Amino acid sequence: MDLMQKIISLSKRRGFIFPSSEIYGGFGSSYDFGPLGVLLKNNIKKAWLDEMLKKQDNIVGLDAAILMSPKVWEASGHLTAGFADELVECLSCHKRFRVDEIKKDKCPECGGKITKPKQFNLMMKTFVGSLEDESAIAYLRAETCQGIYINFKNVLNSGRLKLPFGIAQIGKSFRNEITTKNFIFRMREFEQMEMQWFCHPKEADKWFEFWKEQRLNWYLDLGVKKENLKLSEIPAGKRAHYAKRQIDLEYNFPFGWQEIEGIHNRGDWDLSQHQKHSGQDLKYKDPETGEEYIPHLIETSAGVERSFLAFFTEAYQEISGGRTETTEATKEEETLLKLDKKLAPVKVAILPLVKNKKEIVKKTQEIYKMIKPHFMAQYDEAGSIGRRYRRQDEIGTLYCVTIDFDTLDDSDVTVRDRDTMKQKRVKIGKLLEYLAEKLN
Ligand code: ATP
Repeated sequence: MDLMQKIISLSKRRGFIFPSSEIYGGFGSSYDFGPLGVLLKNNIKKAWLDEMLKKQDNIVGLDAAILMSPKVWEASGHLTAGFADELVECLSCHKRFRVDEIKKDKCPECGGKITKPKQFNLMMKTFVGSLEDESAIAYLRAETCQGIYINFKNVLNSGRLKLPFGIAQIGKSFRNEITTKNFIFRMREFEQMEMQWFCHPKEADKWFEFWKEQRLNWYLDLGVKKENLKLSEIPAGKRAHYAKRQIDLEYNFPFGWQEIEGIHNRGDWDLSQHQKHSGQDLKYKDPETGEEYIPHLIETSAGVERSFLAFFTEAYQEISGGRTETTEATKEEETLLKLDKKLAPVKVAILPLVKNKKEIVKKTQEIYKMIKPHFMAQYDEAGSIGRRYRRQDEIGTLYCVTIDFDTLDDSDVTVRDRDTMKQKRVKIGKLLEYLAEKLN
């Protein structure tokens, strides 16, 4: 199995990610996040929000609607050629491909002749209200940031903010992508974490450099190795229609280097367009100098699922022959998911050494109840202790707490560290404090 297949298989087996609508044969490119997947996803989002709203200065949050006036998308340029893929169609098998996927003038599937490229818009259409005619057409948002631009004045005025400041938002976006491959890398429904930084036009270049560094550091701080990240400057002509400058932050996936986040200098494109189309004044008036101008925007736009896949890939390790302490006679290959402590879905596993000794099980459950409100914890009594350590390593659990026969006499438990596999005896009365010191 190649690495991607192993990741997909572990994701399904351990309840991180399931193919959507599986009992009906699946539904192209949609995925459901299972019990562990949702924890990891939420931890990624929390780490991003903490970075934006707590660590950085002058950023506020927003949660705008997915459905907006179609006029938003006219103004933004998404309904015109600006947001379209160039597609070709095979004349024999009628499959469609993006132009950049075709190497020769032949269909990559059946070798048939292909048509000239045509524009294909990526916006997903729907109807709102009781009629299904032109007047009822609306679109599922294709990027979360438009909700931020149209609320610029609301946020500015209600928060009595001064430039420069940022608005951060996490939410679903939808794109009718033609090719959806590489698992959760390219989907039709996905989540974005976007921060829009409103600044003076003269300061846009400076802030672009600042945010580029900050965003790179966020991934590094969460355990992604430097050699697996790179910043690619996109030259004029290849940039998105709104971008004056564009840097793709790329990760070295098992299928090659691909974008996980875009850092864009959007200039005054968005606010100017919305000012023009809405007829509303979207200029900012500097309270000190009186200068009036349309703010320029620096955007950092990350995908939740793409960073999920990057963190997961980065954390995935196989230890052939097993990690000595947990390996049973078979010396099977072991998997370790070395996720950062902020991201790991389960922080602590609480394990009775044996499940057939009532006093041990009772004590273990008491300890589980004590830990659970403070750290995401899992109780597991099935199988040998070695197997249980391995199951926890496989999902990235940071600490395993084992309750054994001695615990009943001396009130000590064994705490095992995922990465070093070192074991330490800790008093039950000091356990919460011990874990807090390690995990916080
Ligand atoms: P690509 O060139 O790979 O299609 P893009 O340049 O269109 O991506 P942006 O519009 O800059 O992407 O969106 C910002 C981020 O949103 C991307 O870096 C990615 O993490 C995420 N994203 C965009 N499209 C998808 C998708 N179809 N599935 C999952 N995530 C996506």
